[in-house]
Amino acid sequence: MKLFISADMEGISGVATNQQLKTNSEYQRFRKLMTADVNAAIEGAFTGGATEIVVADGHGNMSNILIEELDSRARLVSGNNRVMCQLEGLDESFDGIMFVGHHGREGGSDVAVISHTLAGICVNEMKINGKIVGETEMNSLVAGSFSVPAIFISGDDAYVREVKETLPDVEAAVTKRAVDRFAAELIHPEVAREEIRAKAEAAVKKAKTIKPITFEGPITFDLELKGSQQAKMTTTIPTVELTGPKSIRFTCNDMVTAYKHMWGCVIIAITATNGVLGSVNA
Ligand SMILES: [Zn+2]
Repeated sequence: MKLFISADMEGISGVATNQQLKTNSEYQRFRKLMTADVNAAIEGAFTGGATEIVVADGHGNMSNILIEELDSRARLVSGNNRVMCQLEGLDESFDGIMFVGHHGREGGSDVAVISHTLAGICVNEMKINGKIVGETEMNSLVAGSFSVPAIFISGDDAYVREVKETLPDVEAAVTKRAVDRFAAELIHPEVAREEIRAKAEAAVKKAKTIKPITFEGPITFDLELKGSQQAKMTTTIPTVELTGPKSIRFTCNDMVTAYKHMWGCVIIAITATNGVLGSVNA
């Protein structure tokens, strides 16, 4: 049983506010906590029957997990120039995808800890074929197009409630109670990890019974961005149309192509925030 773990940081046990995830002295503590939560998921998954695990670090610069502290049975995708973003390395050879330390979407629950969708600097709302999605739902649709089911999530209680609306069969480990976007009622990380281990084990044991989620036919993304300058610059890609001052739309024939297209638009939108090339010594 081969599993893919997409690891983020906002939903990691012990995390309450975004200051803890920036590259300051606090950040080093949270890298260790992130690695420990991922290890708990790996341990539970192997106990449940996993034989091979690939972890993709998916937060910020995508280089947070400490490889020297990671369970040696897993391999790690690290570093940030990735065409497949948080899903680099995923393909049809996997039997399930697990989301460790993920978070609520932008505009979802007003208390989900550090809620956002992919890039808080530019994405206000993301829809796929008319359905509003967060990162977990979007990534699960990409996995579903490879016939890979989403089987496990961990994060705050608001995030878990949100995802369960779309993915009712996932096993979920609640790592904290969301109090505000920048506050949480925490439990000790070791207590949270016990829950992660147990739920990861249960998820792997029932993985074969969980159906992947998919959309048939062409995939249309609607993105509402935060700035009109961000939206406008994405139209340098000929397939992107403006549907409003801050809104864009594009359609692709399949989910993987659409996901890459979306990521390209987000990269452009981020760089357009203060004027493209403004901070580059080209
Ligand atoms: Zn993140």
